[in-house]
Amino acid sequence: MIKKRGVAILGSTGSIGTQALEVIAAYPELFDLQVITAGNNVDLLIEQAFKFKPNMVVIVDESQYPKVKEALWKEDIHVYCGKESLCQVVQSTEVDVVLTALVGYAGLQPTIAAIEAKKHIALANKETLVVAGALITELAQKHGINIYPVDSEHSAIFQCLPGEQMNPIEKIYLTASGGPFRGFTMKQLENVTKAQALKHPNWTMGAKITIDSATMMNKGLEVIEAKWLFNLTAHQVDVIVHPQSIVHSLVQFEDGSMKAQMGLPDMKLPIQYALTYPQRLSTNYPRFNFMDYPQLTFEPADAKTFKNLGLAYRALELGGNVPCALNAANEVTVQAFLEDKISFLNIARINEVVMENIPKVRTTSLDDFVTTDAEARIKARELL
Ligand code: NDP
Repeated sequence: MIKKRGVAILGSTGSIGTQALEVIAAYPELFDLQVITAGNNVDLLIEQAFKFKPNMVVIVDESQYPKVKEALWKEDIHVYCGKESLCQVVQSTEVDVVLTALVGYAGLQPTIAAIEAKKHIALANKETLVVAGALITELAQKHGINIYPVDSEHSAIFQCLPGEQMNPIEKIYLTASGGPFRGFTMKQLENVTKAQALKHPNWTMGAKITIDSATMMNKGLEVIEAKWLFNLTAHQVDVIVHPQSIVHSLVQFEDGSMKAQMGLPDMKLPIQYALTYPQRLSTNYPRFNFMDYPQLTFEPADAKTFKNLGLAYRALELGGNVPCALNAANEVTVQAFLEDKISFLNIARINEVVMENIPKVRTTSLDDFVTTDAEARIKARELL
Protein backbone atom coordinates (compact mmCIF):
# COMPACT_ATOMS: atom_id res chain seq x y z
CA MET A 1 0.00 0.00 0.00
CA ILE A 2 1.29 3.51 -0.87
CA LYS A 3 1.98 5.61 2.21
CA LYS A 4 -0.31 8.62 2.39
CA ARG A 5 1.41 11.97 2.07
CA GLY A 6 1.41 13.88 5.38
CA VAL A 7 0.36 17.45 4.61
CA ALA A 8 0.57 20.66 6.63
CA ILE A 9 -1.43 23.61 5.28
CA LEU A 10 -0.27 26.95 6.61
CA GLY A 11 -3.15 29.34 5.96
CA SER A 12 -5.93 26.76 5.57
CA THR A 13 -8.67 29.37 5.93
CA GLY A 14 -7.58 31.42 2.91
CA SER A 15 -8.34 31.15 -0.77
CA ILE A 16 -5.52 28.70 -1.54
CA GLY A 17 -5.95 26.92 1.80
CA THR A 18 -9.65 26.19 1.32
CA GLN A 19 -9.07 25.00 -2.25
CA ALA A 20 -6.27 22.75 -1.02
CA LEU A 21 -8.71 21.25 1.48
CA GLU A 22 -11.11 20.52 -1.39
CA VAL A 23 -8.31 18.61 -3.11
CA ILE A 24 -7.52 16.71 0.07
CA ALA A 25 -11.20 15.87 0.63
CA ALA A 26 -11.43 14.50 -2.91
CA TYR A 27 -8.45 12.12 -2.47
CA PRO A 28 -8.57 10.78 1.11
CA GLU A 29 -6.57 7.73 0.02
CA LEU A 30 -3.60 9.96 -0.94
CA PHE A 31 -3.36 12.53 1.81
CA ASP A 32 -3.06 12.51 5.56
CA LEU A 33 -3.84 16.05 6.72
CA GLN A 34 -1.65 16.74 9.74
CA VAL A 35 -1.77 20.50 10.28
CA ILE A 36 -4.11 23.39 9.52
CA THR A 37 -3.58 27.00 10.60
CA ALA A 38 -5.32 30.37 10.52
CA GLY A 39 -4.39 33.96 11.33
CA ASN A 40 -7.58 34.85 13.18
CA ASN A 41 -10.52 33.28 11.32
CA VAL A 42 -11.32 31.14 14.30
CA ASP A 43 -14.78 29.95 13.24
CA LEU A 44 -13.63 28.56 9.92
CA LEU A 45 -10.58 26.97 11.53
CA ILE A 46 -12.78 25.16 14.04
CA GLU A 47 -15.15 24.04 11.28
CA GLN A 48 -12.22 22.70 9.27
CA ALA A 49 -10.82 20.93 12.33
CA PHE A 50 -14.14 19.12 12.93
CA LYS A 51 -14.40 18.13 9.30
CA PHE A 52 -10.82 17.05 8.60
CA LYS A 53 -9.64 15.97 12.06
CA PRO A 54 -5.99 16.99 11.60
CA ASN A 55 -3.44 16.13 14.22
CA MET A 56 -2.65 19.79 14.98
CA VAL A 57 -4.24 23.20 14.54
CA VAL A 58 -2.65 26.61 15.06
CA ILE A 59 -4.47 29.87 15.58
CA VAL A 60 -1.89 32.62 15.24
CA ASP A 61 -3.96 35.24 17.05
CA GLU A 62 -3.28 34.25 20.66
CA SER A 63 -6.41 35.95 21.99
CA GLN A 64 -8.49 33.37 20.08
CA TYR A 65 -6.74 30.38 21.58
CA PRO A 66 -9.27 29.72 24.39
CA LYS A 67 -12.12 29.63 21.87
CA VAL A 68 -10.38 27.03 19.67
CA LYS A 69 -9.21 24.99 22.64
CA GLU A 70 -12.69 24.91 24.14
CA ALA A 71 -14.39 24.03 20.86
CA LEU A 72 -12.03 21.13 20.18
CA TRP A 73 -11.55 19.79 23.70
CA LYS A 74 -13.34 16.51 22.97
CA GLU A 75 -11.34 15.91 19.78
CA ASP A 76 -7.97 14.24 19.59
CA ILE A 77 -6.39 17.39 18.15
CA HIS A 78 -3.47 19.39 19.51
CA VAL A 79 -4.23 23.11 19.60
CA TYR A 80 -1.48 25.74 19.51
CA CYS A 81 -1.31 29.50 19.13
CA GLY A 82 1.14 32.24 18.17
CA LYS A 83 3.37 32.62 15.17
CA GLU A 84 6.23 30.59 16.68
CA SER A 85 3.91 27.58 16.71
CA LEU A 86 3.83 27.70 12.91
CA CYS A 87 7.56 27.01 12.91
CA GLN A 88 7.14 24.11 15.34
CA VAL A 89 4.20 22.20 13.85
CA VAL A 90 5.80 21.96 10.40
CA GLN A 91 8.63 19.94 11.95
CA SER A 92 6.38 17.03 12.96
CA THR A 93 7.71 13.67 11.79
CA GLU A 94 4.29 12.93 10.27
CA VAL A 95 4.53 15.87 7.86
CA ASP A 96 6.02 15.20 4.41
CA VAL A 97 5.02 18.35 2.57
CA VAL A 98 4.14 21.86 3.77
CA LEU A 99 1.78 23.96 1.67
CA THR A 100 2.68 27.57 2.42
CA ALA A 101 -0.63 29.30 1.75
CA LEU A 102 -0.34 32.18 4.17
CA VAL A 103 0.01 35.65 2.85
CA GLY A 104 3.04 37.93 2.93
CA TYR A 105 6.28 38.04 4.87
CA ALA A 106 4.66 35.94 7.62
CA GLY A 107 5.42 32.92 5.46
CA LEU A 108 9.19 33.32 5.58
CA GLN A 109 10.18 31.87 8.96
CA PRO A 110 7.78 28.87 8.91
CA THR A 111 9.11 28.01 5.44
CA ILE A 112 12.68 28.12 6.72
CA ALA A 113 11.71 25.93 9.68
CA ALA A 114 10.04 23.43 7.35
CA ILE A 115 13.03 23.25 5.01
CA GLU A 116 15.42 22.80 7.91
CA ALA A 117 13.23 19.90 9.08
CA LYS A 118 13.61 18.42 5.55
CA LYS A 119 10.00 18.89 4.48
CA HIS A 120 9.17 19.45 0.85
CA ILE A 121 7.47 22.77 0.16
CA ALA A 122 4.41 23.38 -2.00
CA LEU A 123 4.93 27.10 -2.32
CA ALA A 124 1.98 29.44 -2.78
CA ASN A 125 3.48 32.12 -0.55
CA LYS A 126 5.54 33.82 -3.26
CA GLU A 127 6.59 36.59 -0.86
CA THR A 128 8.98 34.12 0.80
CA LEU A 129 11.03 33.80 -2.39
CA VAL A 130 10.74 37.52 -3.10
CA VAL A 131 12.12 38.44 0.32
CA ALA A 132 14.80 35.78 0.63
CA GLY A 133 15.15 33.86 -2.63
CA ALA A 134 18.89 33.21 -2.33
CA LEU A 135 18.62 32.06 1.26
CA ILE A 136 15.64 29.78 0.62
CA THR A 137 17.04 28.12 -2.51
CA GLU A 138 20.40 27.60 -0.80
CA LEU A 139 18.69 26.01 2.22
CA ALA A 140 16.54 23.81 -0.02
CA GLN A 141 19.65 22.52 -1.78
CA LYS A 142 21.49 21.98 1.47
CA HIS A 143 18.64 19.92 2.94
CA GLY A 144 17.81 18.12 -0.31
CA ILE A 145 14.18 19.21 -0.46
CA ASN A 146 12.05 20.26 -3.42
CA ILE A 147 10.06 23.46 -3.79
CA TYR A 148 6.97 22.77 -5.88
CA PRO A 149 5.35 25.93 -7.25
CA VAL A 150 1.64 26.51 -6.66
CA ASP A 151 1.35 29.84 -8.45
CA SER A 152 -0.38 28.90 -11.72
CA GLU A 153 2.26 30.60 -13.89
CA HIS A 154 5.18 28.89 -12.17
CA SER A 155 3.34 25.60 -12.10
CA ALA A 156 2.91 26.02 -15.85
CA ILE A 157 6.66 26.49 -16.35
CA PHE A 158 7.32 23.56 -14.01
CA GLN A 159 4.94 21.38 -16.04
CA CYS A 160 6.79 22.28 -19.26
CA LEU A 161 10.17 21.14 -17.93
CA PRO A 162 10.02 17.33 -17.49
CA GLY A 163 12.22 15.71 -20.13
CA GLU A 164 14.21 18.92 -20.65
CA GLN A 165 16.87 18.42 -17.97
CA MET A 166 19.67 18.72 -20.53
CA ASN A 167 18.15 21.73 -22.29
CA PRO A 168 18.75 25.17 -20.80
CA ILE A 169 15.86 27.61 -20.71
CA GLU A 170 16.47 30.58 -22.99
CA LYS A 171 13.58 32.56 -21.64
CA ILE A 172 10.18 32.26 -19.98
CA TYR A 173 7.01 34.25 -20.51
CA LEU A 174 4.78 34.72 -17.50
CA THR A 175 1.25 35.46 -18.61
CA ALA A 176 -0.78 38.16 -16.86
CA SER A 177 -4.50 38.74 -17.15
CA GLY A 178 -3.89 42.48 -16.89
CA GLY A 179 -6.31 42.68 -13.97
CA PRO A 180 -9.39 44.91 -13.74
CA PHE A 181 -7.56 48.00 -15.03
CA ARG A 182 -6.00 46.57 -18.19
CA GLY A 183 -5.60 49.35 -20.76
CA PHE A 184 -6.23 52.15 -18.22
CA THR A 185 -4.16 55.35 -18.46
CA MET A 186 -2.51 57.03 -15.48
CA LYS A 187 -5.31 59.59 -15.52
CA GLN A 188 -7.98 56.90 -15.38
CA LEU A 189 -6.18 55.17 -12.52
CA GLU A 190 -6.21 58.31 -10.39
CA ASN A 191 -9.69 57.76 -9.06
CA VAL A 192 -10.21 53.99 -9.13
CA THR A 193 -11.81 52.57 -6.02
CA LYS A 194 -11.12 49.66 -3.74
CA ALA A 195 -14.30 47.94 -4.92
CA GLN A 196 -13.13 48.15 -8.55
CA ALA A 197 -9.65 46.93 -7.67
CA LEU A 198 -11.06 43.94 -5.78
CA LYS A 199 -12.96 42.69 -8.85
CA HIS A 200 -10.48 40.46 -10.66
CA PRO A 201 -11.75 39.41 -14.10
CA ASN A 202 -10.65 35.73 -14.00
CA TRP A 203 -9.65 34.63 -10.48
CA THR A 204 -11.20 34.75 -7.01
CA MET A 205 -8.36 35.22 -4.52
CA GLY A 206 -7.46 36.77 -1.18
CA ALA A 207 -7.61 40.57 -0.89
CA LYS A 208 -3.86 41.21 -0.92
CA ILE A 209 -3.07 39.27 -4.10
CA THR A 210 -6.17 40.73 -5.78
CA ILE A 211 -4.90 44.27 -5.20
CA ASP A 212 -1.41 43.17 -6.24
CA SER A 213 -2.95 41.90 -9.48
CA ALA A 214 -4.66 45.23 -10.09
CA THR A 215 -1.38 47.15 -9.59
CA MET A 216 0.67 44.50 -11.49
CA MET A 217 2.80 44.06 -8.37
CA ASN A 218 1.67 40.45 -8.35
CA LYS A 219 3.35 39.94 -11.73
CA GLY A 220 6.43 41.74 -10.44
CA LEU A 221 6.59 39.44 -7.42
CA GLU A 222 6.14 36.50 -9.77
CA VAL A 223 9.10 37.66 -11.89
CA ILE A 224 11.29 37.56 -8.79
CA GLU A 225 9.76 34.23 -7.70
CA ALA A 226 10.51 32.76 -11.16
CA LYS A 227 14.11 33.91 -11.02
CA TRP A 228 14.68 31.82 -7.91
CA LEU A 229 12.54 28.81 -8.79
CA PHE A 230 14.11 28.31 -12.22
CA ASN A 231 17.57 29.88 -11.68
CA LEU A 232 17.15 32.64 -14.28
CA THR A 233 18.29 36.22 -14.72
CA ALA A 234 15.85 39.13 -14.88
CA HIS A 235 16.44 39.30 -18.67
CA GLN A 236 15.21 35.75 -19.07
CA VAL A 237 11.84 36.49 -17.50
CA ASP A 238 9.30 38.33 -19.63
CA VAL A 239 5.69 39.21 -18.96
CA ILE A 240 2.96 39.07 -21.58
CA VAL A 241 -0.64 40.13 -21.01
CA HIS A 242 -3.12 37.41 -21.93
CA PRO A 243 -6.59 38.49 -20.79
CA GLN A 244 -8.25 35.06 -21.12
CA SER A 245 -5.90 33.37 -18.57
CA ILE A 246 -5.90 30.11 -20.56
CA VAL A 247 -2.21 29.94 -21.43
CA HIS A 248 -0.75 29.87 -17.93
CA SER A 249 2.85 30.56 -19.03
CA LEU A 250 5.45 29.55 -21.60
CA VAL A 251 9.05 28.36 -21.80
CA GLN A 252 11.33 29.08 -24.74
CA PHE A 253 14.33 26.81 -25.29
CA GLU A 254 17.62 27.54 -27.02
CA ASP A 255 16.43 26.19 -30.39
CA GLY A 256 13.57 28.72 -30.35
CA SER A 257 10.95 26.07 -29.62
CA MET A 258 8.31 27.08 -27.07
CA LYS A 259 6.17 25.03 -24.73
CA ALA A 260 3.05 26.37 -23.05
CA GLN A 261 0.78 24.89 -20.41
CA MET A 262 -2.92 25.64 -20.83
CA GLY A 263 -6.21 25.00 -19.14
CA LEU A 264 -9.21 26.70 -17.63
CA PRO A 265 -8.24 28.92 -14.71
CA ASP A 266 -8.66 26.80 -11.58
CA MET A 267 -6.13 26.94 -8.75
CA LYS A 268 -7.00 23.39 -7.67
CA LEU A 269 -4.96 22.10 -10.61
CA PRO A 270 -1.61 23.65 -9.67
CA ILE A 271 -2.31 22.95 -5.99
CA GLN A 272 -2.80 19.25 -6.57
CA TYR A 273 0.08 19.02 -9.01
CA ALA A 274 2.35 20.50 -6.34
CA LEU A 275 1.02 17.99 -3.79
CA THR A 276 1.23 14.90 -6.02
CA TYR A 277 4.10 15.63 -8.45
CA PRO A 278 5.03 13.80 -10.65
CA GLN A 279 1.63 12.10 -10.65
CA ARG A 280 -1.41 13.71 -12.30
CA LEU A 281 -4.72 12.92 -10.65
CA SER A 282 -7.81 12.07 -12.63
CA THR A 283 -10.43 14.81 -12.13
CA ASN A 284 -13.86 15.74 -13.40
CA TYR A 285 -13.11 19.50 -13.44
CA PRO A 286 -14.61 21.29 -16.48
CA ARG A 287 -12.51 20.87 -19.63
CA PHE A 288 -11.31 23.62 -21.94
CA ASN A 289 -13.44 23.98 -25.08
CA PHE A 290 -11.81 25.75 -28.03
CA MET A 291 -15.20 26.96 -29.26
CA ASP A 292 -15.67 28.94 -26.02
CA TYR A 293 -12.41 30.79 -26.77
CA PRO A 294 -12.25 31.46 -30.52
CA GLN A 295 -9.46 33.96 -29.82
CA LEU A 296 -6.59 33.80 -27.39
CA THR A 297 -4.96 37.23 -27.39
CA PHE A 298 -1.63 38.62 -26.22
CA GLU A 299 -0.43 42.18 -25.66
CA PRO A 300 2.59 43.85 -24.07
CA ALA A 301 2.59 44.63 -20.36
CA ASP A 302 2.46 48.33 -19.55
CA ALA A 303 5.18 48.75 -16.91
CA LYS A 304 5.13 52.55 -17.36
CA THR A 305 1.57 52.94 -16.17
CA PHE A 306 1.69 49.99 -13.77
CA LYS A 307 4.91 51.11 -12.11
CA ASN A 308 5.06 48.26 -9.63
CA LEU A 309 6.04 45.86 -12.39
CA GLY A 310 9.04 48.03 -13.29
CA LEU A 311 9.93 48.39 -9.61
CA ALA A 312 10.07 44.64 -9.20
CA TYR A 313 12.47 44.28 -12.15
CA ARG A 314 14.63 47.02 -10.66
CA ALA A 315 14.58 45.35 -7.24
CA LEU A 316 15.67 42.12 -8.86
CA GLU A 317 18.56 43.86 -10.63
CA LEU A 318 19.67 45.60 -7.44
CA GLY A 319 19.37 42.34 -5.48
CA GLY A 320 20.45 41.94 -1.85
CA ASN A 321 17.83 43.27 0.54
CA VAL A 322 16.05 45.46 -2.04
CA PRO A 323 13.29 42.98 -3.01
CA CYS A 324 12.64 42.49 0.71
CA ALA A 325 12.21 46.26 1.16
CA LEU A 326 9.90 46.49 -1.83
CA ASN A 327 7.79 43.62 -0.53
CA ALA A 328 7.51 45.15 2.95
CA ALA A 329 6.54 48.55 1.56
CA ASN A 330 3.97 46.91 -0.67
CA GLU A 331 2.39 44.99 2.21
CA VAL A 332 1.97 48.28 4.10
CA THR A 333 0.64 50.24 1.12
CA VAL A 334 -1.80 47.55 0.00
CA GLN A 335 -3.18 47.32 3.54
CA ALA A 336 -3.48 51.12 3.64
CA PHE A 337 -5.31 51.12 0.30
CA LEU A 338 -7.68 48.44 1.62
CA GLU A 339 -8.33 50.69 4.63
CA ASP A 340 -9.04 53.67 2.33
CA LYS A 341 -6.01 55.56 3.64
CA ILE A 342 -4.23 56.05 0.31
CA SER A 343 -5.16 56.18 -3.36
CA PHE A 344 -4.45 53.42 -5.85
CA LEU A 345 -1.54 55.27 -7.49
CA ASN A 346 0.06 56.03 -4.15
CA ILE A 347 0.72 52.32 -3.66
CA ALA A 348 3.48 52.33 -6.28
CA ARG A 349 4.63 55.88 -5.43
CA ILE A 350 5.33 54.98 -1.81
CA ASN A 351 6.79 51.59 -2.73
CA GLU A 352 9.29 53.34 -4.98
CA VAL A 353 10.41 55.88 -2.37
CA VAL A 354 10.91 53.17 0.25
CA MET A 355 12.77 50.90 -2.13
CA GLU A 356 15.11 53.62 -3.37
CA ASN A 357 15.94 54.87 0.12
CA ILE A 358 16.49 51.66 2.02
CA PRO A 359 20.15 51.23 3.07
CA LYS A 360 21.35 48.56 0.66
CA VAL A 361 22.85 45.31 1.92
CA ARG A 362 24.46 43.06 -0.71
CA THR A 363 24.93 39.73 1.02
CA THR A 364 21.97 38.94 3.14
CA SER A 365 21.32 36.79 6.18
CA LEU A 366 17.97 36.14 7.83
CA ASP A 367 18.78 38.90 10.35
CA ASP A 368 19.28 41.36 7.48
CA PHE A 369 15.86 40.48 6.09
CA VAL A 370 14.22 40.89 9.49
CA THR A 371 15.85 44.32 9.89
CA THR A 372 15.09 45.43 6.33
CA ASP A 373 11.47 44.33 6.59
CA ALA A 374 11.00 46.28 9.83
CA GLU A 375 12.77 49.41 8.52
CA ALA A 376 10.87 49.42 5.24
CA ARG A 377 7.54 49.09 7.04
CA ILE A 378 8.36 52.07 9.28
CA LYS A 379 9.40 54.17 6.29
CA ALA A 380 6.29 53.20 4.33
CA ARG A 381 4.00 54.05 7.26
CA GLU A 382 5.65 57.48 7.58
CA LEU A 383 4.80 58.13 3.94
CA LEU A 384 1.11 57.16 4.08
P1 NDP B 1 -5.85 34.74 1.76
O1 NDP B 1 -5.79 36.12 2.31
O2 NDP B 1 -7.10 34.26 1.16
O3 NDP B 1 -5.45 33.70 2.91
C1 NDP B 1 -4.31 33.88 3.70
C2 NDP B 1 -4.22 32.80 4.75
O4 NDP B 1 -3.11 33.10 5.61
C3 NDP B 1 -5.42 32.72 5.68
O5 NDP B 1 -5.53 31.41 6.18
C4 NDP B 1 -5.04 33.70 6.79
O6 NDP B 1 -5.72 33.45 8.01
C5 NDP B 1 -3.56 33.39 6.94
N1 NDP B 1 -2.80 34.53 7.42
C6 NDP B 1 -2.91 35.82 7.01
N2 NDP B 1 -2.01 36.58 7.66
C7 NDP B 1 -1.31 35.76 8.49
C8 NDP B 1 -0.27 35.96 9.42
N3 NDP B 1 0.27 37.16 9.63
N4 NDP B 1 0.19 34.89 10.09
C9 NDP B 1 -0.34 33.67 9.88
N5 NDP B 1 -1.34 33.41 9.03
C10 NDP B 1 -1.83 34.46 8.32
O7 NDP B 1 -4.63 34.61 0.74
P2 NDP B 1 -4.54 33.73 -0.57
O8 NDP B 1 -4.94 32.33 -0.27
O9 NDP B 1 -5.17 34.44 -1.69
O10 NDP B 1 -2.98 33.77 -0.85
C11 NDP B 1 -2.06 33.04 -0.07
C12 NDP B 1 -0.71 33.07 -0.77
O11 NDP B 1 -0.83 32.38 -2.00
C13 NDP B 1 -0.22 34.48 -1.10
O12 NDP B 1 1.15 34.53 -0.96
C14 NDP B 1 -0.61 34.64 -2.56
O13 NDP B 1 0.24 35.53 -3.25
C15 NDP B 1 -0.44 33.22 -3.08
N6 NDP B 1 -1.25 32.89 -4.24
C16 NDP B 1 -2.61 32.94 -4.16
C17 NDP B 1 -3.40 32.63 -5.24
C18 NDP B 1 -4.89 32.60 -5.14
O14 NDP B 1 -5.56 32.19 -6.11
N7 NDP B 1 -5.48 33.02 -4.04
C19 NDP B 1 -2.79 32.27 -6.53
C20 NDP B 1 -1.38 32.20 -6.49
C21 NDP B 1 -0.63 32.51 -5.39
P3 NDP B 1 -7.15 34.16 8.31
O15 NDP B 1 -8.11 33.54 7.34
O16 NDP B 1 -7.40 33.79 9.70
O17 NDP B 1 -6.94 35.62 8.08
